[in-house]
Amino acid sequence: MEGAAVRLLRGGALLRRNFPICLSSWKNPPHVLKSSQSEAGLKTTNKALPYAPLQTFTDEEMMIKSTVKKFAQEQIAPLVSKMDENSKMEKSVIRGLFQQGLMGIEIDTKYGGTGASFFSSILVIEELAKVDASVALVCDIQNTIINRLIGKYGTEEQKAIYLPKLATEQMGSFCLSEAGAGSDSFALKTKADKKGNYYVINGSKMWISNAKDAGLFVVMANVDLTLGYKGITCFLVDRDTEGLHIGKPENKMGIRASSTCPLTFENVKVPEANILGQIGRGYKYAIGGLNESRIGIAAQIAGLITGKCIEWMGGVGYTKNYPVEKYFRDAKIGTIYEGTSNMQLNTIAKRIDSEY
Ligand SMILES: Cc1cc2nc3c(=O)[nH]c(=O)nc-3n(C[C@H](O)[C@H](O)[C@H](O)COP(=O)(O)OP(=O)(O)OC[C@H]3O[C@@H](n4cnc5c(N)ncnc54)[C@H](O)[C@@H]3O)c2cc1C
Repeated sequence: MEGAAVRLLRGGALLRRNFPICLSSWKNPPHVLKSSQSEAGLKTTNKALPYAPLQTFTDEEMMIKSTVKKFAQEQIAPLVSKMDENSKMEKSVIRGLFQQGLMGIEIDTKYGGTGASFFSSILVIEELAKVDASVALVCDIQNTIINRLIGKYGTEEQKAIYLPKLATEQMGSFCLSEAGAGSDSFALKTKADKKGNYYVINGSKMWISNAKDAGLFVVMANVDLTLGYKGITCFLVDRDTEGLHIGKPENKMGIRASSTCPLTFENVKVPEANILGQIGRGYKYAIGGLNESRIGIAAQIAGLITGKCIEWMGGVGYTKNYPVEKYFRDAKIGTIYEGTSNMQLNTIAKRIDSEY
């Protein structure tokens, strides 16, 4: 046990120390989501080519993949089946993600983050999902929603308080959906009433990923329901705030190790200083955050072996003797969260309709 922990710590220290050197291309991320080698290729070879394939990786990107693959195989894979059965993420896995610098991938090094790129987050999520989709989801939400929202819209004070914790020890949850507001999330009814220099939040949320272990909740609440979605405002709520209750995790079909909980807010007092960004702009931040996070979810699903594999294996693929049935269960969530497939098709259809 001790040996494994020491090895894990050493691995973490080594990887973190090496990030700036061996993963230096992470520091100068491509502005669009393609590998940095693709950009290099553009300059030196064929200028007429708009993009090299996304799967063309630089040496550094290959190194990211192999480092995360090694971590996932050594530290996560042995626990996957147990975590799925018990619907519980092992603390050692969460600790490992932090130690490896995988929970603050884009957070600036001045806040204790890894200081890498969005593209790196996507590579990491995909590699983790090859071993366990729940672990990939933890990494996705932290890096592509929570850290990015605070990094983009946080005040200097908020960044100084939250980013160092998020990079090293604290998991975040994104709280938008409610019982009557899933696909139609801006119909949310959780409200935040202003009282002097603080707000009082009342209402409830559903389906909040990682809530069981999260220390910070990024909560969308409406400051004036008569304004409709234009009243939606984003609040940073600490776990131990009085009146915030985290309900029992759902007993899910897939991604079972990732907790999904209801939350209730009973007169939760949040200082005005904990508003993220501008009052009434929460809906914009939610759309923007989810647009980015969906790329992470796509990487998560790409990392999974899908249903076809079950057919290749015949009957044994349908049994719990092999992990493919779990991949099948885990993959199903990709058609539901961060916008159901129906809603995504609607959005695509609207875009096409407006173009032609
Ligand atoms: C495991 C899990 C984790 C989640 N994690 C989070 C999280 O961390 N944070 C968070 O805020 N939320 C989270 N969610 C919530 C998730 O985003 C919603 O479940 C999802 O948006 C669907 O909403 P709903 O469940 O209310 O379904 P509904 O919106 O009620 O949809 C039910 C069905 O009706 C269809 N439908 C609804 N409206 C339309 C329409 N206008 N046109 C066509 N079809 C329509 C849908 O496509 C779907 O098939 C999570 C959900 C799950 C299951």
